[in-house]
Amino acid sequence: MLRAGLSGPLAIDYSERVTGAAPDTVTPENGLASQVLAGGRRALARAITLIESERADHREEAETLLRDLLPATGKALRLGISGAPGVGKSTFIEAFGLHLIGRGKKVAVIAVDPTSRRSGGSILGDKTRMEKLARSDQAFIRPSPAGRTLGGVARRTREAMLLCEAAGYGVVIAETVGVGQSETAVAAMVDMFLLLIAPGGGDELQGIKRGIVELADLVLVNKSDGDLEPAAGRIAAEYAAALSLLRPTTPDWRPTVQQCSALMNRGIARAWETAEAHQRALSESGALQELRARQSREWMWSEVTEDVLAGLRDDAAVAAALPDLERKVGLGDMLPGAAAQAIVTAYRRGRG
Ligand code: GDP
Repeated sequence: MLRAGLSGPLAIDYSERVTGAAPDTVTPENGLASQVLAGGRRALARAITLIESERADHREEAETLLRDLLPATGKALRLGISGAPGVGKSTFIEAFGLHLIGRGKKVAVIAVDPTSRRSGGSILGDKTRMEKLARSDQAFIRPSPAGRTLGGVARRTREAMLLCEAAGYGVVIAETVGVGQSETAVAAMVDMFLLLIAPGGGDELQGIKRGIVELADLVLVNKSDGDLEPAAGRIAAEYAAALSLLRPTTPDWRPTVQQCSALMNRGIARAWETAEAHQRALSESGALQELRARQSREWMWSEVTEDVLAGLRDDAAVAAALPDLERKVGLGDMLPGAAAQAIVTAYRRGRG
């Protein structure tokens, strides 16, 4: 019986699991679950499309599917990768992914870009990204789930990651391709957060939001090659100094800085060893299970908040009261707290 679940213990070699046999939780009418478990990439893609759908009947199906697959989740190494556009994220993920595949792993990459719209075309819609990795049948690459809000995108990303785990991907990467707001959301759904920086990108310490550095378990200074190498060394030293001033988020792991060159395929193996060491340290101490449990609880509350807020925004009584209240708050004629109370009162009254 596969028993792991959202916050279950970790076995990094999960990708080697023999697929094909469906666990006893799969009902015959839910063929898609068995197909996902069997590791079919097309089935996985279809499952992700299902969880992305906003149709109510699809949502119901998606929830059944996720519930059926839940026992088969939780065993992947969940990695978040972030960095400003141009630092070399896709080059790095390709080199990193191919390295992992060389070690017998299956790798899934989900991009997270709350600013993208399917119709507008996300950055990953550009097929030339990670071309070699995309060609491997051990890799699964998925563009950003569409969504109207960051919360919506985050939920779809989390669910897509679970589906990838159920399909036997031993390493699941959430890559932020949007600028700014997606980092915190991604950090809240992964075991380890990797921040990629590079020299020459206007990306020096002072230019990067301090909050993002605080999220990092590993800072990788990419493009540590050729003419850029001296500058990369300086940046690495700066970041190491900055990190040493931060209080680690867990006693089991001290964030470190490493240099790499995705282009020259240098430092890639070391980055993976570090990710494994991180996972080992956190799972041995129990911190990983605690982290995942906390993330699941936070996920639950963010869903509640999203749902309640959506209900409130759709409410006719609230909609009628809002323009006036917003205007008054904007003009300073009313305190925000009092206006908030008025909104909640309107909502409650509207619901009888
Ligand atoms: P992304 O926007 O963060 O995904 O960055 P890309 O992977 O698309 O890379 C942006 C540019 O940096 C491309 O021209 C890459 O060839 C280049 N690049 C990526 N990694 C390296 C590296 O390790 N060294 C050097 N010199 N260039 C790199």
